[in-house]
Amino acid sequence: MNKKDNKFSTKAVRVGTIRSQEQEHSEAMYLTSSFVFNSAREASERFANPESGNVYSRFTNPSVKMFEERLAALENADRCVATSTGMSAILSCFMALCSKGDHVVVSKSIFGTTVQLFNNILKRWGLDITYVDLSNENQWADSIQKNTKLFFVETPSNPLSELCDINSLANLSHKHGIKLIVDNCFLTPALQKPLDLGADIIIHSATKYLDGQGRCLGGAVLGNSNDMKEVFAFLRSAGTTMSPFNAWVFLKGLETLKIRMDAHSRNALELATWLESLPYIEKVFYPGLDSHPQFELAKTQHSASGGVLSFNIQGSKKEAWNLIDSTNMLSITANLGDVKTTITHPATTTHSRLTQEERDAANIGDNLIRIAVGLEDIEDIKEDLKYLLK
Ligand SMILES: *Cc1c(COP(=O)(O)O)cnc(C)c1O
Repeated sequence: MNKKDNKFSTKAVRVGTIRSQEQEHSEAMYLTSSFVFNSAREASERFANPESGNVYSRFTNPSVKMFEERLAALENADRCVATSTGMSAILSCFMALCSKGDHVVVSKSIFGTTVQLFNNILKRWGLDITYVDLSNENQWADSIQKNTKLFFVETPSNPLSELCDINSLANLSHKHGIKLIVDNCFLTPALQKPLDLGADIIIHSATKYLDGQGRCLGGAVLGNSNDMKEVFAFLRSAGTTMSPFNAWVFLKGLETLKIRMDAHSRNALELATWLESLPYIEKVFYPGLDSHPQFELAKTQHSASGGVLSFNIQGSKKEAWNLIDSTNMLSITANLGDVKTTITHPATTTHSRLTQEERDAANIGDNLIRIAVGLEDIEDIKEDLKYLLK
């Protein structure tokens, strides 16, 4: 059952299933490092063309393959290459597609560890990197050089939920022979499909919403066959591989992705709307609110705005910490993409490695709080934040 024209939820449940001769209904977990061949000739043919069958789980495993096929179907990609973490997806993508002396343009508002990977590691290998404002397209245009290979964005951004117009940025990049990469971790294909909007490559941290229950680390790179062939070749040699156990967990996660993402989005919108109505809140950042400066773009670019929101509380660090410490149920952790609601103070955790000036420039104030809204009952989430009603 691999029909291309099936609807999203059907593909999420049905695509990619490999059934063994045991006729199991739920997909099997193939915990094996290697595979056997019927003859020396077959072994030789498999090594020459791993696409024709299993060889060794560093680069071919049926559980991983089921996850790859299913996620590729959901993102409308030719091919998916699954990786051990979201960071190794980004590493594999850049190692495969860039060489020494290439230039890339990257949004300033990206995951902190991604910045560390670019600045502390990839730069040492001769990658030239320019950072620009996510939503300021003139800056993207102005930073293009002859050797620019890739654009890299996350949209919505973390923690302030700024957006870029994916279609417009893809058009700009393609005019100059540049590929646009979108890290689609926050919305997932259940809510936003960057390839359909013109992007070339998608990155996932499967650790977040694809699992959705905070159990496993994993990642994925998706795109056309030519680019993914390069990414696969890197993974085959470098071993940035997803484990079959984790692949099985993510495969099951995809089956409920749409209903979870819709529920995260409903809870987040309700919480954002409530927060906006409270006297002690200065500003709420969530693309689903009509007060968001890019609300119109949000409506055309994604079907709902996902689970992550942030807000400025009146006051400073003291008031922000007091609120966080007043909660009983919410988990104080920097993780996101879980059924459990999490609350974070970005200035002293996820963004603490920035200087005060960098934080000011990025609008990460000491009074900013981020919430990744989970799937508890929304009334209980509000109740836990009742400190705000003082
Ligand atoms: C978490 C995250 C990553 C890194 O993923 P890991 O699975 O933790 O390696 C990359 N991008 C974004 C947007 C993330 O939130």
